[in-house]
Amino acid sequence: MSRATQAGPSEAGAVSAWIALGANLGDARAALRGALQAMAVLPDTRLLAVSSLYRSAPVDALGPDYLNAVAELQTGLAPLDLLHALQAIEQAAGRERPYRNAPRTLDLDLLLYGEQRLEGAELTVPHPRMWQRAFVLLPLAELRPGWVTPAQLQAVAAQAIERLDAPSAWTR
Ligand code: ATP
Ligand code: CA
Ligand code: CA
Repeated sequence: MSRATQAGPSEAGAVSAWIALGANLGDARAALRGALQAMAVLPDTRLLAVSSLYRSAPVDALGPDYLNAVAELQTGLAPLDLLHALQAIEQAAGRERPYRNAPRTLDLDLLLYGEQRLEGAELTVPHPRMWQRAFVLLPLAELRPGWVTPAQLQAVAAQAIERLDAPSAWTR
């Protein structure tokens, strides 16, 4: 559906959306940087903030370590339109889905879309597994201090994760 008449990001109606970025195949750092650039030029969308870059061990899977980050967008795109735009960016980065939790060139998950709760065939927000994942909660907590609770961070504290670079260092 066309959204040509929808409010732009600086207008009332735009919402903040938080996106988890992950990659563990190929040049993962370049893939995450490319994803930031691609998200920044989506229609009716601005890139507001980017977290530090993290390295995490795969969960429930084999393969190389992941690079992870979280980005905050301000967008006038509807939730499904935003999801489809994120999927197009994944496809352009060579994303394949041979099996569940397979290594990937780029994964973009929509964590939060404003305050909205959605449960559809294609899209659930908040992302239902985000609270189980240190590689989501640590970078998200940088961008939303106080929103992720100490108890939630404690629940994922045993997971192997390392902060690699400050935002200014890896997005440059
Ligand atoms: P996980 O969702 O556990 O992180 P994954 O990222 O590896 O796993 P994908 O293969 O990338 O899973 O996505 C599978 C499907 O999840 C997509 O086709 C999409 O429709 C659906 N989906 C549901 N909710 C979301 C969301 N909040 N963000 C991204 N995809 C979602
Ligand atoms: Ca994911
Ligand atoms: Ca995904």
